[in-house]
Amino acid sequence: MAAGRLVSRLAMVTGGGSGIGRAVCRRLASEGASVVVADVDEASARRTLQSLPSDLRGQAHMAAVADVASKESVENLLTSIQVRYFQPPSVCVNAAGITADDFLLDMEEDDFDRVVRVNLKGSFLVTQAVARALVACGATKGSIITVGSIVGKVGNMGQVNYAASKAGVEGLTRTAAKELSRFGIRCNCVLPGFISTPMTDKVPEKVIVKMKSLVPLGRMGEAAEVADACAFLASDDAGYVTGASLEVTGGLFMG
Ligand code: NAP
Repeated sequence: MAAGRLVSRLAMVTGGGSGIGRAVCRRLASEGASVVVADVDEASARRTLQSLPSDLRGQAHMAAVADVASKESVENLLTSIQVRYFQPPSVCVNAAGITADDFLLDMEEDDFDRVVRVNLKGSFLVTQAVARALVACGATKGSIITVGSIVGKVGNMGQVNYAASKAGVEGLTRTAAKELSRFGIRCNCVLPGFISTPMTDKVPEKVIVKMKSLVPLGRMGEAAEVADACAFLASDDAGYVTGASLEVTGGLFMG
């Protein structure tokens, strides 16, 4: 790990209360960033906050309740961050996400809408709010990272809503990358494959065994391994990387 790459950077992570988002919070904090842990679930955001590596715990970092699917909630989040730190986050990781699986022939309209509202519209609202705040304060650099999914590229049985939302965030990210480059703001996606988190705890064991057999590296990924990719994209080591989608899949569905 390249410690210290994010010293004096302010980072905001949505979905920071669980799984990949929590791992990203820990990784960014371990590299020196002050981290805003944002989640719809206040208790889980606080648990992440308590686990962050910093002597200044509770001062350097903060937990915040935010529903990424609500414009008002996202705007309140940005306001509370700027009141506390006197600056917007220069690193933003969109990790909030949900699933509501069913086959196309059976899927309820509400389940389609709900998943798209959180995963796609939520990424739009957060990206827009962070970018607006950075541009308004004259910031000269920023990094916005959105957690997509390899499923957005290849599709997945029973996930027509989720796959559509994750394909959408790649288009959103590439467009944001083009529009925001002139402000020094880079926008990228990470595309996890099959990662061990509370989200995949719901997957039946027989499906897990089958998926593992398809992964060239022969195992599920760890949330920390997705966080490694996010930390790279957040850092100046990725200073010439924008509009990219970085697959973190153990080789699943490559090529
Ligand atoms: P997770 O453990 O369920 O974490 C997702 C977090 O997002 C939870 O804390 C959840 O809170 C929060 N959240 C849900 N709706 C929200 C909203 N409207 N506003 C703010 N926060 C909200 O899932 P994960 O596996 O870490 O997933 C993180 C991201 O990675 C998601 O975007 C997911 O699609 C993506 N991903 C995961 C995998 C995988 O294999 N795990 C693979 C590819 C992509 P609640 O628990 O209260 O709902």
